[in-house]
Amino acid sequence: MGALHQGHARLMAHARVVTTTPCSVLASVYVNPLQFGAGEDFEQYPRDLDADCRVAAQAGVDALWCPTDAQMYPDGSDQVFRLQVPQSLQQHLCGASRPGHFDGVATVVARLLSLVRPSVLLLGEKDWQQLTILRHLVRALALPVRVIGCPTVREADGLASSSRNSYLTPVQRQQASALPHLLQQEAEAVRSGVRDVDSFALKTALTAAGLAVDYVEVVSPSTLQPASADQTCRLLAVAARCGATRLIDHIVLMTRSPIVAIDGPAGAGKSTVTRAFAERMGLLYLDTGAMYRAVTWWVLEQGLDPADAAAVEPCLEGLEVELDPLRDGVQAVRVNGRDVTEVIRDPRVTAKVSVVAAHACVRALLTAQQQRMGERGGLVAEGRDIGTAVFPDAELKVFLTATPAERARRRAVDLERRGFEVPALAELEAQIVERDHLDSTRDVAPLVQAADATELITDGMGIDAVIDALEDLFRLKVPAEAWPGSNA
Ligand code: C5P
Repeated sequence: MGALHQGHARLMAHARVVTTTPCSVLASVYVNPLQFGAGEDFEQYPRDLDADCRVAAQAGVDALWCPTDAQMYPDGSDQVFRLQVPQSLQQHLCGASRPGHFDGVATVVARLLSLVRPSVLLLGEKDWQQLTILRHLVRALALPVRVIGCPTVREADGLASSSRNSYLTPVQRQQASALPHLLQQEAEAVRSGVRDVDSFALKTALTAAGLAVDYVEVVSPSTLQPASADQTCRLLAVAARCGATRLIDHIVLMTRSPIVAIDGPAGAGKSTVTRAFAERMGLLYLDTGAMYRAVTWWVLEQGLDPADAAAVEPCLEGLEVELDPLRDGVQAVRVNGRDVTEVIRDPRVTAKVSVVAAHACVRALLTAQQQRMGERGGLVAEGRDIGTAVFPDAELKVFLTATPAERARRRAVDLERRGFEVPALAELEAQIVERDHLDSTRDVAPLVQAADATELITDGMGIDAVIDALEDLFRLKVPAEAWPGSNA
């Protein structure tokens, strides 16, 4: 809406580097009447187009578009098709005290996107509810654009940059800086385990600092519904008036680093995309399939019958399966110190792994080890039961799949690359279907989609598109300001 400040400038500069292909960076300045309620500051909202042009030019923007009301709403303001944001997304935080505001935002942004047709839309995380609603809008309408949120930019004293800060008198400006400080203090108390959020005490402190509190709420970042104390990633959000100026701010409360669970059937391409996703998001990569393969290799090495649980159990005694951090895209695997990274991909291991993985003793051993590795979070694990049995409290759960024919094709490419003999596609497909059947019908921790997982069907998607989709799902749950990732 203009009155551009350093927060906008950061978005514009980030737009320059965010895509892999050269793109034009465009910005729009439009004070949208639809998103202002009666008695709000539509008339006073700061408008300074010359200054906006300077900020945008300096930030490297190729064009600034300042549409007129007639361009945005050609049939007049009483003939506007309005989008309606679902109640659940606007019944808390700002939506509760600004009825119709987010419908107005959704409507104008949908029209701007249709007119401009950008590949990427950058928005600030400061207006988290707006960002989340627009992410949901883009998904719901299947708009062909990626939404990228950028961390809140702050002034030297911590106050979140905002066009409305220009309303503040010097005295108010000082009072306003209490807001980020009190949020920080609250988050620190939660982080250090002293206590959980004390909304009442926070309200009292904000009031004592001269601010009139509209709300203090703790919500789940993706659903915007009240969060329970056991949620690992929550948003503590505040709106308060400083004089006549409404300020909003929030802080992310994380009790451990994020965990991502990626499950799915054989050959869905989980390893390839999960590895790249881990690198992009700065998460550790955990290939749990490799651990089951390692145990299977060991069982075969010992000359044991893989189907005989009574024979397998004793050979697990003292068995050490180690996974290294990724190096050059490879996760080295060792069994009792011996490097088995390549041999566990042998089709003879693949043929028996589902049988070995079905034994309760094998699952108990490896699940406990995986949970130890994930104690502090900060990892993405892929397998069959990650979201259901290993990390049921993962922030993001994805069920990654593709048709059996597509998976057979991918498996053939992988086998060839590794120098193994490649069976006919029909045979590979039959093997894959058989392995899926064994994995999804076993008694302990079978392969099933977790109730709260998002299904991603990857037929026809390139690797980069799948990784982008994972990142977008992750970002709905975990703000960049709390977990920047490695390309921040
Ligand atoms: O993913 P990958 O093909 O390497 O997995 C090999 C096998 O390991 C799977 O077919 C499955 O039987 C087993 N597995 C499992 N639980 C996991 C990961 C893999 O049972 N979390």
